[in-house]
Amino acid sequence: MREAGLVVAEALDRVRAMAAPGVTTADMADVVAEVFRRHNAKPLFLGYPANEKGKPPFPAVICASVNEQVVHGIPNRRPLRDGDIVSIDTGCSLNGWCGDSAVTLAIGTPSAEAKKLLDVTLETLNLAIRAMGRCNYWSEVASLMDRYVKSQGFYVVEKFVGHGIGQAMHEEPQVPNFVSKSLIKHDIKLEPGLVLAVEPMVSVGTKDVRTLSDGWTVETKDRRPSAHFEHTVAITHEGIRVLTLKDDDSSSGAQSPTPTIATTA
Ligand code: MG
Ligand code: MG
Repeated sequence: MREAGLVVAEALDRVRAMAAPGVTTADMADVVAEVFRRHNAKPLFLGYPANEKGKPPFPAVICASVNEQVVHGIPNRRPLRDGDIVSIDTGCSLNGWCGDSAVTLAIGTPSAEAKKLLDVTLETLNLAIRAMGRCNYWSEVASLMDRYVKSQGFYVVEKFVGHGIGQAMHEEPQVPNFVSKSLIKHDIKLEPGLVLAVEPMVSVGTKDVRTLSDGWTVETKDRRPSAHFEHTVAITHEGIRVLTLKDDDSSSGAQSPTPTIATTA
């Protein structure tokens, strides 16, 4: 899974490096497809889900969600503009094992509000990763995430959640970014061997979302901005390991925590 995670990290690094006004999300998808091809990695988003009634297969190797779009946006040929924010989510499998990660990028100069949204969402992911090293149950982590977002005046999107990941991209359990009713009933014990895709989605004005008529794109109901960061995170006997983060990564948008964090409790 680390090998798959590094390919995903490389793909998102390439996207980060090209994020500028005038670039399109279709350009970004092309670059990610090229990285996956070069590594012989299988894109996990293209054609997803294989055979689900009433759901068109996703048509690209990345989800690209701009501004008020939360997740599952479809890449297109509209040039990104100065001040846009764009969430890029992608995953691949390598030798049968999966990696899944997402980043939200500012195009040109973001507004103060957008900048804060990106900072808060990334910190929500990072505080969750740190907390996984010392909490016994996911509900403790989810509570910290939700409380932090609220303390910043923003909203955790509740309709979509993280997930277990392994030989399939989406495995049990569901991993909410807040303390859901089902989490109270079926909490997730955090123990070595567990690998989770942790992926907070945070919005400026509301947690409520709707899906557009393309069958995929999810946007906020108030059409104000939303951001999304994700890492594939393993709990090991040596501590927490962020499988989709390069060891030497200190670039913005994926900085801290160090990939291996000693468990303190
Ligand atoms: Mg993802
Ligand atoms: Mg995911």
